[in-house]
Amino acid sequence: MHKKLFIPGPVDVRPEILEAMGTPMIGHRTKEASALGESICKNIQKLFYTANPILLSTSSGTGLMEGAIRSLTAKRAIVFSIGAFGNRWAKLAKSNNVPVDKVEAEWGQPTLPEVVDKYLSTGKYDVFTITHNETSTGVMNPVYEIAEIRKKYPDILWLMDAVSSMAGVKIEVDKLGVDVCITSTQKAIGLPPGMSICSITKRALEYGKQVEFRGTYLDILALYAYMQKKPYQYPSTPSIAHMFALDKQLDYILNEEGLENRYARHLEMGRITRAWADEHFERFAAKGYESQTLTTIKNINGISIAELNKRIGELGYQISNGYGDLKEKTFRIAHMADRKVDELKELLNVIDKEIAKM
Ligand code: PLP
Repeated sequence: MHKKLFIPGPVDVRPEILEAMGTPMIGHRTKEASALGESICKNIQKLFYTANPILLSTSSGTGLMEGAIRSLTAKRAIVFSIGAFGNRWAKLAKSNNVPVDKVEAEWGQPTLPEVVDKYLSTGKYDVFTITHNETSTGVMNPVYEIAEIRKKYPDILWLMDAVSSMAGVKIEVDKLGVDVCITSTQKAIGLPPGMSICSITKRALEYGKQVEFRGTYLDILALYAYMQKKPYQYPSTPSIAHMFALDKQLDYILNEEGLENRYARHLEMGRITRAWADEHFERFAAKGYESQTLTTIKNINGISIAELNKRIGELGYQISNGYGDLKEKTFRIAHMADRKVDELKELLNVIDKEIAKM
């Protein structure tokens, strides 16, 4: 039996999109491939609210995170972490020999603009990273407030992980002034895992030229340079199956559901899940900073989350245990991509019934 996925990626994919992945292949050096790439990039610009170039990478989001921090840090990066995926930025930097410092907030708390201000004002850094939506803690950062503070430091490049929120929450890349904004296909966009997408400013592309060792596969300057030579094509063979699916899903998101309706649906699902959490448990994320695409819930009742998941699994549903050290202490319900409000209510009912029996 297929379990309905309420985990923060991979998400359930609409049958039409799975079908699009089975479209007969085309050569990746053909005019058709360029046209497909162009259509995707133009629509991604609308989704990201940006005029910046768009790059696709046949890697999951971590690939573009690694490529971005390695290709663009000439001096020293500062990572503002609020959980496991923030910490990943620092690990990626260190393992690539990129000088890096990390400021980690207490888990459940956001990155506060004044903390960003304090570190950027030191003049030590040329790059900083922010996690838009931290999937381990269910915290969404106040990026518009961070953008205000960042105006004092226009020369420092801003890399942002929007892996678990893009297409579920409005993220206006150009208004914010984000230099590299990264997302993956298997989250709120609603595709299978296997590709990642970023926008990148021309100035970041220029700045990265001074970085001598940018790697090869994940060198984001090389990705862009190839696209200039051969329009909307890539140095190595991309996942064409994902590209067919992405093109179709973007058309659906932009022209059938509509962005505002999509955001409203996510807001509603977040509201319902938080109300349910307040009634039975407690929220993990600090009030006012809760994610709109997933809710991390404190297991104050000490139920076995593994057992709960097993029970609801037999009924065709799956949620996520807490991340890392938060296992069993918290659990996570994702409400993203093409999940419907009624399906979420159905899940919460099923959980209520199973908990009553435990
Ligand atoms: N950042 C966040 C916030 C995530 O949730 C994830 C994956 O769960 C990643 C980064 C890593 O993305 P990927 O698994 O696509 O490499």
